Amino acid sequence: MQKDTQCVQAGYRPGNGEPRQIPIIQSTTFKYNTSEDMGKLFDLEANGYFYTRLQNPTNDYVAAKIAQLEGGTAAMLTSSGQAANFFALFNICECGSHIVCSSSIYGGTFNLIAVTMKKMGIETTFVSPDATEEELDKAFKENTKAVFGETIANPALTVLDIEKFAKVAHKHGVPLIVDNTFPTPVNCRPIEWGADIVTHSTTKYMDGHGAAVGGCIVDSGKFDWMAHKEKFPGLCTPDDSYHGITYATKFGKEGAFITKCTAQLMRDFGSIQSPQNAFLLNLGLESLHVRMPKHVENGQAVAEFLLNHPKVEKVNYPGLPSDKYHKLALKYMPNGGCGVVSFVLKGGRKEAELFMKSLKLIAIETHVADARSCCLNPATSTHRQLTDEQLNEAGIPAGLIRVSCGIEAKEDLIEDIKQALERI
Ligand SMILES: *Cc1c(COP(=O)(O)O)cnc(C)c1O
Repeated sequence: MQKDTQCVQAGYRPGNGEPRQIPIIQSTTFKYNTSEDMGKLFDLEANGYFYTRLQNPTNDYVAAKIAQLEGGTAAMLTSSGQAANFFALFNICECGSHIVCSSSIYGGTFNLIAVTMKKMGIETTFVSPDATEEELDKAFKENTKAVFGETIANPALTVLDIEKFAKVAHKHGVPLIVDNTFPTPVNCRPIEWGADIVTHSTTKYMDGHGAAVGGCIVDSGKFDWMAHKEKFPGLCTPDDSYHGITYATKFGKEGAFITKCTAQLMRDFGSIQSPQNAFLLNLGLESLHVRMPKHVENGQAVAEFLLNHPKVEKVNYPGLPSDKYHKLALKYMPNGGCGVVSFVLKGGRKEAELFMKSLKLIAIETHVADARSCCLNPATSTHRQLTDEQLNEAGIPAGLIRVSCGIEAKEDLIEDIKQALERI
């Protein structure tokens, strides 16, 4: 199947007389005739469902669609993007482990890794997304278990050189985990460039309608855990909580990562997506291939308009030939990346506030990647505790505005931005 067909039809394939749309299995539990039948599920000897804290058929239909779209062998849904990134890392890291991570990532993920996972005894070395192979090499330690980055970073809009990061990760015997939320598999498939695990905040373009928070983890099935078994004891040695099974030998490269993540982390942390949300996510996926080109078209048009405006100091958008990441964007995303643009207004907080207040169509929200256009000024919202000096250090000047271009008519978005700029 082509990507467009996968968006519409992959995952759930109804049999004769079965519902055309994915059934929402709104049930916490599942019935069995004998305890032996259920025991096989608890021993991971048979496939099936027993409790929705671990697995639910509606979720699995949708996860299977995303696995196909990304070109992976297995996938699971999580309650949020945060849960997806935490599970993807914690599935192979434990107290005493080390991570190499791009410094250009989503603020929520940065907090998770730099603050919360640090409290769990997991240390991280942050590296520039522009680091050379030699610089990356130096970041690795004996206890490094994973490399992490975002295809297009939220909100910095830097583009990850996936091939380079994968090459260095593999040289050190660890997988590359890529958060592919912004481009989605419609515009980039990181596994084709060497990524081993792909994560998503499905809350963004995949749902695309601002309706359901969710996340997803996809395994490429390519990483050879047993070849590095001293690094990954959780996958390569017997699990006492499942009668001594070894995930990497029992489920192979294709299934070990997601099976362990479900059987251990979902069992113990319970960050499952509700089947109702999975249903909404699937509705979003059915039109993802139609929406993404429109988001890109609008992002490109808005970025080009802003680039030539006298009140604008700087525009970040990988689709602009003048952008630092344009070459990488062309390599990894020849059809465009996403609809998120950021720009710096001449002036600062005051000008940014006046500009945003004057918008009539584009709404002020913390959200991105929605069908409806929205915007945010970090200095007066998410980062308002920082001084102007601290903001500059973080690469988020006070006048920076992030616009998430929806799928409205680009002329209306430009007209709205134009009239708001005139108010300054
Ligand atoms: C929003 C976002 C997340 C977090 O996802 P939630 O669904 O909000 O938990 C992670 N990574 C990226 C790139 C994001 O944009």
